[in-house]
Amino acid sequence: MLYQRSSQLFAEAEKVIPGGVNSPVRAFKSVGGTPIFVKEAKGAYLYDEDGNKLIDYINSWGPMILGHAYEPVVNAVIEKAKLGTSFGMPTEIETKIAELAVSMVPNIDKIRFVNSGTEACMSAIRLARGYTDREKIIKFKGCYHGHSDSFLISAGSGAVTFGSPNSPGVTSGTAKDTLLATYNDLANVESILDANKGEVAAIIVEPVAGNMGCVPPAKGFLEGLRALCDKHGTLLIFDEVMTGFRLAKGGAQELFGVNADIVTFGKVIGGGLPVGAFAARNEIMNYLAPIGPVYQAGTLSGNPLAMAAGLTMLQEINKDSELFARLEEKTAYLERGMRKVLNDNKVAYTINRVGSMISVFFDEREVVDFDTAGYGNNDTFKKFFHGLLAEGVYIAPSSYETWFITDALTYEDLDYTINAVNKIFAS
Ligand code: PMP
Repeated sequence: MLYQRSSQLFAEAEKVIPGGVNSPVRAFKSVGGTPIFVKEAKGAYLYDEDGNKLIDYINSWGPMILGHAYEPVVNAVIEKAKLGTSFGMPTEIETKIAELAVSMVPNIDKIRFVNSGTEACMSAIRLARGYTDREKIIKFKGCYHGHSDSFLISAGSGAVTFGSPNSPGVTSGTAKDTLLATYNDLANVESILDANKGEVAAIIVEPVAGNMGCVPPAKGFLEGLRALCDKHGTLLIFDEVMTGFRLAKGGAQELFGVNADIVTFGKVIGGGLPVGAFAARNEIMNYLAPIGPVYQAGTLSGNPLAMAAGLTMLQEINKDSELFARLEEKTAYLERGMRKVLNDNKVAYTINRVGSMISVFFDEREVVDFDTAGYGNNDTFKKFFHGLLAEGVYIAPSSYETWFITDALTYEDLDYTINAVNKIFAS
């Protein structure tokens, strides 16, 4: 495949946009090569500026769970746009999407919409701090909760890919209030809580980590966090920006049967438009302005186009009782197929998967936390990435990312992908 026009466009972009991209992982820095400029996408496929067709396993990093340019969502946005694109005043559709989200997700009474996952998580910890009157938070090494200052401490995803998990510009004052724990290590969390008695407002966790590759919670881990939070008067925040409306209608809370105190959303909830949200029971949400003392706001929050996309997406998910079973089946099929060809070719690997989140690490050791996720960040991953790309299969350009499977993928696409993996490693 040729990427002549993408190369040209990238060179032009680099002159006026730092690194040529508006979000670092897009730049292909860790795998090398030219980032691909997309022209359009439909269903499971991307079409780039050079006319190449790619099977997409990223799907805008999660939102396009039903495929690109999904017609009901596109039509809803077009129709809404004709009526005006922003008012900064209440609209009925905000209540409609809020009602639907609250009906789908367990254990929440109210939800507030923002413009990104970053904003959702940033607001959630402010709310937790205000509600508990405590300042510290616990986050897990390798988890990513967006780029607000408190979270850029040992962060995953692009932050680690680019070697800046602790970003310059985050003040030491902010950093001292973020306590770091090891994912899947309850004893570690307990010791941190014991050492900071009465001071920890919240534990924020990706209930299935997706920003150090896909790392499932060990059996009992989420339940253990719940129990520790109850014991210490600390709020449990599930960052469901990836898992929300992807692993089940009710997200990880439903899948694992564990209740969080605050839940954050992004990605799927916006149907591909810039949307985030955070939600909780009444006693916590009523702490927010204008009825409570914790301030949070947004000129474009609840934007009608974004709400139209999000509402239509949630309606489609809500009415399709087979969706999550189908996604599970497709992703399990891909997993089995890749395992077989990697075994046949004697490649050292680990595959982690929960529902339609999956990643391949090129090391045979188990991947359970940030340190073990690092084993797979190696040359074999680069060979894998570029090998797949050469065959027209697009995965995330970093080993610290998850693949997001879309329902638009056919079994022919999956077979094609498995065969492409075989080609890379067949000697
Ligand atoms: N939380 C998690 C778990 C995420 O994966 C991400 C983004 N990948 C965010 C928060 C931040 O969301 P956004 O990029 O929309 O700001």
